Amino acid sequence: MSLGCITHISASTSIAGYSARSNVSKKWSKLIATDCPINAVEGFIRQILGWREYVRGIYWLKMPDYVIETFLDANDKLPDFYWTANTKMNCLRQCVSETKENAYAHHIQRLMIIGNFSLLAGLDPKEVHKWYLGIYIDAYEWVELPNTLGMVLFADGGYLASKPYAAGGSYINKMSNYCKSCHYKVSSKNGEDACPFNYLYWDFLIRNENKLRNNPRMGLIYRNLDKMKSEKFESIRSDSNTFLKRIENNEKV
Ligand SMILES: Cc1cc2nc3c(=O)[nH]c(=O)nc-3n(C[C@H](O)[C@H](O)[C@H](O)COP(=O)(O)OP(=O)(O)OC[C@H]3O[C@@H](n4cnc5c(N)ncnc54)[C@H](O)[C@@H]3O)c2cc1C
Ligand code: SF4
Repeated sequence: MSLGCITHISASTSIAGYSARSNVSKKWSKLIATDCPINAVEGFIRQILGWREYVRGIYWLKMPDYVIETFLDANDKLPDFYWTANTKMNCLRQCVSETKENAYAHHIQRLMIIGNFSLLAGLDPKEVHKWYLGIYIDAYEWVELPNTLGMVLFADGGYLASKPYAAGGSYINKMSNYCKSCHYKVSSKNGEDACPFNYLYWDFLIRNENKLRNNPRMGLIYRNLDKMKSEKFESIRSDSNTFLKRIENNEKV
């Protein structure tokens, strides 16, 4: 096994109910034996002893009320393409298709593409939670719920994560190769052919300003928003409304 590639152990970890200690110690010995770079081994162990144990703690500390938290008052229903993958957005089309095919997607697909879109589009946390819980082979509520509700949707108001994980198209373009073969133009910020993540990102910040502006980690972002000219502001609002309306009407976006 190389740590440079995806490990795919979350399903067996969840299903077999391995403890962090047994999981890490077994893998650790194996990896040392295969001479992995120390930074890769460190990252891997940190995921299990760090993040996995952290979300487990949050779940048992905050349930049963955690599941009904909805700090940002997001309440839109899931687009049809969450089930069909029938969308012109290449990133989402690929992530949803692979999810349907394999009952698996790697962390960044879950977080940066599907999760980020769910946050920006204002989808109902309970619906998104049911989707993640139903669709992935490794899904167990104790690990899925804090990741979805806390890390991705900021529905707990910052209990788990210090700021919402929101990103526009240029970040997705920097971190992946999805944009190269997309119907939408990632370099375009507004209008019919613009990448929807671009205007939805700013629209999300505008919509949730009263809840997010005072977050110490969001100050710079809101200062950038303040510098935005009013025409640009209007185009963002209008493009986002049109796009979200089209989803609501089950049009292909
Ligand atoms: C919205 C969302 C929902 C998720 N739902 C689940 C879920 O239901 N079940 C689940 O096991 N993981 C879940 N994750 C975490 C993570 O995406 C998966 O554990 C990871 O994709 C599994 O792939 P891998 O085994 O190749 O992990 P690698 O990326 O190689 O990581 C190694 C191991 O670290 C652990 N790990 C890494 N990141 C996390 C994390 N954020 N939370 C918990 N453990 C982590 C897993 O045990 C994983 O097998 C979710 C993440 C997000 C953003
Ligand atoms: S251009 Fe936008 S919608 Fe298309 S793949 Fe890139 S981020 Fe996704």
